[in-house]
Amino acid sequence: MTYLLTDTGLAALSAFVDPDTLFAFDLDGTLAPIAADPTEIRVAPAVAAALAALRERAAVAIITGRSRQDAQRHLGMTPQYLVGNHGAEGLPGWERYAEEFRRQGGDWAGQLMRALPAGQHPGIVVENKGMSVSVHYRAARQRPEARSLVLKAIGQLVPPPRVVGGKYVENLLPEEAPDKGTALLELMNRAGCAKGLFVGDDMTDEDVFRLDWEQLFTVRVGAGRNSRARYFLRDQEEILALLRLINEALTHINH
Ligand SMILES: [Mg+2]
Repeated sequence: MTYLLTDTGLAALSAFVDPDTLFAFDLDGTLAPIAADPTEIRVAPAVAAALAALRERAAVAIITGRSRQDAQRHLGMTPQYLVGNHGAEGLPGWERYAEEFRRQGGDWAGQLMRALPAGQHPGIVVENKGMSVSVHYRAARQRPEARSLVLKAIGQLVPPPRVVGGKYVENLLPEEAPDKGTALLELMNRAGCAKGLFVGDDMTDEDVFRLDWEQLFTVRVGAGRNSRARYFLRDQEEILALLRLINEALTHINH
């Protein structure tokens, strides 16, 4: 991984971006800092403004683990594409599966609430996001024990979900649901974009990073030893610098 905000990284960025690039971003930990209470995340007004400016110049997509409705509340701008539930919700072309994914999510959430009754396991929260389920244990006092309990309960689910770990959270997705990598490629196709730039920070974003395509420019927020992203930013605050650099590069191309 190369640090993006270096001469080498910036030269690669400006050589890559053009108005036919799809600019796609994760939300939590990427456009907004992680908050102890996930309902409290906030996209900084300057970031929302830079995204809105980018949207005027090129196609912008947000691909998030949140539900679309929840994500839209926090964004402060409206992107051309908004895909929720780690790729499973709102992807053009996948509408006919929506009901099945939703039914599956609800069913797993019910099984988990019976296996991990609220009140008996403080700090473990089962969140039904519609087409995926997230089991959070960030607030648990003993996180390793909480994680074991959560994984044990997940191991008993019928049918078994696809499980993608995150920062103090396990995400459950229908086996057939599109992941973020599939979502990005589908959106590029829809938008008529030959290239895609994607920024993310978490395990589910690796589904994009591992595509490892010439036509993809991948950036991880935070250097990760096991990440397949090509570039990294040191922390979430640097997203604003990246957005401004992209806008600047596109302005030079357009004029
Ligand atoms: Mg994230």
